[in-house]
Amino acid sequence: MAPAWPPHILEAAALALMTPMAREHADTFHGGRPGPGHIADVRRVLEAVAPHLPAARQPGFDLRAFGVENRTRCEAPNGFGHRLHDWSLSDWMTATLGELGEAANIAKKLNRVRDGLGRFNAETEDALCTKMADEIADCAIYLDLMAQAAGIDLATAIRRKFDRTSAKIGYVAAPGAPAP
Ligand SMILES: [Mg+2]
Repeated sequence: MAPAWPPHILEAAALALMTPMAREHADTFHGGRPGPGHIADVRRVLEAVAPHLPAARQPGFDLRAFGVENRTRCEAPNGFGHRLHDWSLSDWMTATLGELGEAANIAKKLNRVRDGLGRFNAETEDALCTKMADEIADCAIYLDLMAQAAGIDLATAIRRKFDRTSAKIGYVAAPGAPAP
């Protein structure tokens, strides 16, 4: 799903990219703000770039909202048509570990590259890195469904456990370091 760019971001980006002539036009006809044409141009650029950014940098990515989308696709007749509770926790666990196994197989092949044995791989290192991203994503998608099947809010569980471990080891985010 294309990320929804907040209007203030679109407007700021449009202003930053305007030529002096475009600014003059905006001053004359739009009260100094970018007109709809400029906003549409910027939106097109951002939408083209966004899929190539790491997911965490994509505006609007929200694990809880994704979970709703994930379950909906899982159960929809035009999705996988598979109700969440038709599988036991053990079934979801098996599926998740299956994806982790696929990622491990890629890791094995990347280890070959590291060890100078890349000639035994059918894929290039770049292709393997791309596949690794896919397999890790598959793991996360199944992990989310597994958590939902167990009645766990994954976003809350991750936050709680991460913070508890930080407290246990005495970790305090340094100024400027990422923090909740
Ligand atoms: Mg997979």
